[in-house]
Amino acid sequence: MSDNNTIENNPQNFITSIVENDLSNGTHKNRLNKQNQPLPEIITRFPPEPNGYLHIGHAKSIFLNFGLAQRYKGRCHLRFDDTNPEKESQEFVDDIQNAVEWLGFWDKNNTENLYYASDYFDTLYEFAEVLIKKGLAYVDSQTSEQIKFNRGTLQHGGIDSPYRNRKAEENLQIFQGMKAGKYTEGTHVLRAKIDMESPNINMRDPIIYRIKYAHHHRSGDKWCIYPMYDYTHCISDALENITHSICTLEFEDHRPLYNWILEHLKEAGVLPQILPKQYEFARLNLHYALTSKRKILQLIQNNVVDGWDDPRLATLAGIRRRGYSPASIRLFCERIGVAKADSWIDYATLEQALRDDLDPIVPRLTTVLKPLKLIIDNMADDHVEWCNATVNPHNAEQGKRNFTLSKELWIEQDDFMLEPSKGFYRLFVGNKVRLRYGFVVECTGYDVDSENNVIAVHVNYFADSKSGTEGSNNYKVKGNIHWVDAKNSLAIQVNLYEHLFTDPQPDASGKNFLELINSNSKNVVKAYLENSDTSNSIANEMQVQFERHGYFVKDIASNDEAIIFNRITLLKDSKHKA
Ligand code: ATP
Ligand code: MG
Repeated sequence: MSDNNTIENNPQNFITSIVENDLSNGTHKNRLNKQNQPLPEIITRFPPEPNGYLHIGHAKSIFLNFGLAQRYKGRCHLRFDDTNPEKESQEFVDDIQNAVEWLGFWDKNNTENLYYASDYFDTLYEFAEVLIKKGLAYVDSQTSEQIKFNRGTLQHGGIDSPYRNRKAEENLQIFQGMKAGKYTEGTHVLRAKIDMESPNINMRDPIIYRIKYAHHHRSGDKWCIYPMYDYTHCISDALENITHSICTLEFEDHRPLYNWILEHLKEAGVLPQILPKQYEFARLNLHYALTSKRKILQLIQNNVVDGWDDPRLATLAGIRRRGYSPASIRLFCERIGVAKADSWIDYATLEQALRDDLDPIVPRLTTVLKPLKLIIDNMADDHVEWCNATVNPHNAEQGKRNFTLSKELWIEQDDFMLEPSKGFYRLFVGNKVRLRYGFVVECTGYDVDSENNVIAVHVNYFADSKSGTEGSNNYKVKGNIHWVDAKNSLAIQVNLYEHLFTDPQPDASGKNFLELINSNSKNVVKAYLENSDTSNSIANEMQVQFERHGYFVKDIASNDEAIIFNRITLLKDSKHKA
């Protein structure tokens, strides 16, 4: 199941309907690229800005864009929208490729569909000159405050810049001077000449170029002017022959600008006749998760978390380290679907996708998280009893795991009560329980320290009650508790994670997420793990189920000295509880 990409089962949504409609109408049929090679009828793109690590919201976009390409035998470009040099870096480019590869949609060794907006800087510049020459762009020399003020508001139209009617010749000259580094930052910008009265503020002569003396992680110091996102994005789409440019709803108001730029450049003869079209879908909002690179960065800068791959973050690097499998993220994306209206997704949906992926495949292990000594008084000191359990009850082929039981065991503190509450069937003096995969024992007493804390529990075992033997049927007990052999177990560290925030919507409606941090989001405990062939074969990044406790992953920081596990999520229901 883990490797089975779920795209084929991906249900219909409004975007698949649009694509299928285009396919049946032949909207993008018989197109050729510049080298006269036929182009697929469906080309999508995933266009992250390399200004941070990807998060779970991006997974939705990746799943959608790459998924459409797979399903309709087209292709999907990974394009870095890298036009803000100060915020971008190679570290982020690398993470993004790692994350898309991890999700199963990318191969870093195959750069066929890899693009960078910065590769278009020359073309974008030429096209800007085309717009200037056609009287469709002008250099504005107002201050940024004036530009902002004169742009108007939702209620009031904007005011024309005094530079709006500069002659094309003059515009061209200044623009070339901007490129040549003649001016300081903020002295001039290039604006599209559209409509200062437009009810859509994006159409009020948007800025398309600004001066910025910044080193770019790819183009170096070649440029001191950089194109704006809205100008770059649509042209990049057109240059790459994208058919369906799918973005989140907040870009709906930018669509007229997207079309304006492309239509005018098409008329000028510098773009293909069939242009890409933009479609908007609802972004993913996930409870207890921040899906904004900028906000995640704030958590890192404030030392709330340990970095971009902190397992409490909803970055894909964090989710991966937390133990989520790529298949579970794909399953999650499939389940949440694609719609046009914004909504919030319950965190439980993500957890359930993980359980559904892992349950049939991962090994079970026994671990005691809050250890309490259990002493079997009637067992000889040197007695070693071998017990076994299935590695995975859903799949007999994974075989059995073998581990020892001897006189002293570790059990969970919660499995013993001095005064049992109603419905408590586990250990208390006089009660019998089964030691899972072992014997039935009867509790006879306990030891306390000077402060009256229970430090050990005493039992006697019934030698003819071993699980898997005939005699075991003679014992009917309600409680069934897990344990590990105190003499033969592995000391491990377990990171118990909870939600990072105390509020499911920490950044909604003006809330300050930095004030809503759950101070208990990471609990580090020392625990004991069964010593078996199976437990010894778990490599870093492998997921397991700790019986009765949930799903865990061996953390990448584990080494010969330290075995570390992260809790991914609890088991769903209480039926595993004794
Ligand atoms: P951020 O605010 O985190 O920087 P962004 O939208 O600015 O997010 P980009 O790197 O520009 O990030 O996004 C790349 C693509 O991923 C875009 O097409 C964007 O629409 C999409 N995307 C970003 N966040 C989400 C989300 N929460 N749900 C779905 N798609 C998203
Ligand atoms: Mg952005």
